[in-house]
Amino acid sequence: MIPFNRPPYLGTEDKFVLEAIKQDKISGDGNFGKKSQEILEDMTKTKKALLTPSCTHALEMSAILLNIQAGDEVIMPSFTFVSTANAFVLRGAKIKFVDIRPDTMNINENLIEDAISQKTKAIVPVHYAGVGCEMDRILEIAKLHKVAVIEDSAQGVMAKYRGKALGSIGDMGTFSFHETKNYTSGGEGGALLINEPSFINRAEIIREKGTNRSQFFRGEVDKYSWVDLGSSYLPSELQSAYLYAQLLDAKKINEARLSSWNYYNKLLKDLEKKELLELPKIPKECEHNGHIFQIKVENLELRGKLLEHLKRDKISAVFHYIPLHSSVAGKKFGEFVGEDNFTTKESERLIRLPLFFGLKKEEQERVVESISKFYR
Ligand SMILES: *Cc1c(COP(=O)(O)O)cnc(C)c1O
Repeated sequence: MIPFNRPPYLGTEDKFVLEAIKQDKISGDGNFGKKSQEILEDMTKTKKALLTPSCTHALEMSAILLNIQAGDEVIMPSFTFVSTANAFVLRGAKIKFVDIRPDTMNINENLIEDAISQKTKAIVPVHYAGVGCEMDRILEIAKLHKVAVIEDSAQGVMAKYRGKALGSIGDMGTFSFHETKNYTSGGEGGALLINEPSFINRAEIIREKGTNRSQFFRGEVDKYSWVDLGSSYLPSELQSAYLYAQLLDAKKINEARLSSWNYYNKLLKDLEKKELLELPKIPKECEHNGHIFQIKVENLELRGKLLEHLKRDKISAVFHYIPLHSSVAGKKFGEFVGEDNFTTKESERLIRLPLFFGLKKEEQERVVESISKFYR
């Protein structure tokens, strides 16, 4: 069986995790947490990176930081993971879903303004597959209407838009270190990137259960107490140590993924030329990170057949998001603005091929051979 995903693992994680176990402090914001944050800050050129237990938690923190409350509206694509929406719905927001572009599967920047109202508080672009959204246009709209931009960059670690790291362009950005992503902190994890400095102080408070404990540890205040809303948004040192090993070798993992991505792209070009399927499109402004290799087939029915065929050949390929606006909770907490020209249609045609750190060329050849056989 060729699995769809294997959690990234280098072999260097063991040493750091064992070291972490033997530290006197193994709760959040210890040695490995701080070192990992420094690497992320350096990598992305963001003002502040804070590790979190998940990208979901980083998104929740961003919603608290923006003071989202009942009646506020937040704009995002419907083709995304539930957490993008849930984090804001938890604070009482209503979600306005905007259609995607068929080329990148990202929010269509030209439709965002139609969804803006007096109640809009934020735009949440999602960089699908680590391919950047059209951020210049999105920032321009946000500035004009005075709304915040939170980049859901769960899939975007090490990817860039016009030379800038994804996650470092809006007011805040979020990363995921879940086992299905390019880097993992032992299965679950995430980070909040803060690019707008005025959010930094309060972010540390929210992350420390609403206390000013971080300032206390830095000697900035002489006692710590409850000062604001908050929760427990810190990963343990064991998770941070696992991540630290992978961040030290971030380039190696990125290059391996890109090389697997490019190999699929090369092997499948013929089928695209014959117009049997479509391959991913990368805009020239974007440097992606090989997070997903997706193909699009003619329609939903054919997709079902191809997935069945691959399964019989012991290859685990998978579809992706059921658009949120057609889900039970999505209907309750949000609404689609304008026409759904591409969200449903394009998501129904999409298949993600096995892609992970350590994927072998022979395995990729087997996947492509199975797809070619299906079309013969
Ligand atoms: C994976 C993912 C998330 C959630 O990440 P977790 O770390 O599992 O909470 C959120 N948004 C997008 C777009 C994702 O791909």
